[in-house]
Amino acid sequence: MEGGAYLVIAVSFGIATGVIGRGKGSSFFIWFAVGAVLPLLGLIAVIAYRSEHAEPERRCPTCNKVVKLYVQVCPRCGTDLYLPDPSEVRQPR
Ligand SMILES: [Zn+2]
Repeated sequence: MEGGAYLVIAVSFGIATGVIGRGKGSSFFIWFAVGAVLPLLGLIAVIAYRSEHAEPERRCPTCNKVVKLYVQVCPRCGTDLYLPDPSEVRQPR
């Protein structure tokens, strides 16, 4: 029963990948599909995946919009954003 064993492995990896993906603030079902279609590779991908929520943030000095640290030009007011004072960078949970 090769097919049956593969199905068990695919579903197991799918669930594990989905749970990790959901824990990182992403969709369980998207990562379940990735893990089921690509067992192991999907699991590695979700472990390496960086959630958007984990990116450090800073505040635009001109309009106070909160943007990601890697954003170089404020999307609201167009101010050039240089590397801020480290005390102004905050790590979202
Ligand atoms: Zn701004």
